[in-house]
Amino acid sequence: MSNWKPQEHLPKEIKDLIERPTPNYTLALFDILHKLKLQRRTGWINNGIENPESISDHMYRMSIMSWILNSDGIDSSRCMKISLAHDMAEAIVGDITPFDVKIDKVEKHHRELATIEYLSEMLIKPYNEVAAADILKAWHEYEDQTSIEAKYVKDLDKFEMLVQCFEYERMYKGKKDLSQFYGCIDEITTDEVSKWTQDLMNERKEYFKSVSD
Ligand code: ZN
Repeated sequence: MSNWKPQEHLPKEIKDLIERPTPNYTLALFDILHKLKLQRRTGWINNGIENPESISDHMYRMSIMSWILNSDGIDSSRCMKISLAHDMAEAIVGDITPFDVKIDKVEKHHRELATIEYLSEMLIKPYNEVAAADILKAWHEYEDQTSIEAKYVKDLDKFEMLVQCFEYERMYKGKKDLSQFYGCIDEITTDEVSKWTQDLMNERKEYFKSVSD
């Protein structure tokens, strides 16, 4: 594991907000979150998708998906919060995919944990201690899969990507091979998200039938 520290990877203008005599931590946080709007998801870039979605695009749609979940015994507001927190650390760490050989799983986890702890402890806590603890808890809940809500969000993480993938397949009129992204379907375990996935796959099948005619 490296000695990687999030505070050493902040742009100068954000460092200036934090290191001045009267720091503006909340503005620093909001500026860091801007990176989630700018960061394009690596999986699409690697496949030559033009102008692909950002990390916050992905989390936004997952949050709405979470909101409308309708399974017994789950707290959809909790799912929304977990959705909003789960990729937050990528604002500083960046989007590392399993195909990234330079940074292994342990190092990825180390950097993301260091980042979410930094954001929570240093930037959010001085303003709102309750929210700081809740964001950190939601991130851990997802990372460690310790609640039923976290399991739904893990399914939505994959399902949202599949919805996006089918959108790109149609954008390229079925001529770009993105089939590798569908390898994760078997890992979707909850009934509700499995049903959504099945419906999506049926649509996709019909679509490819129509373009091959
Ligand atoms: Zn995600």
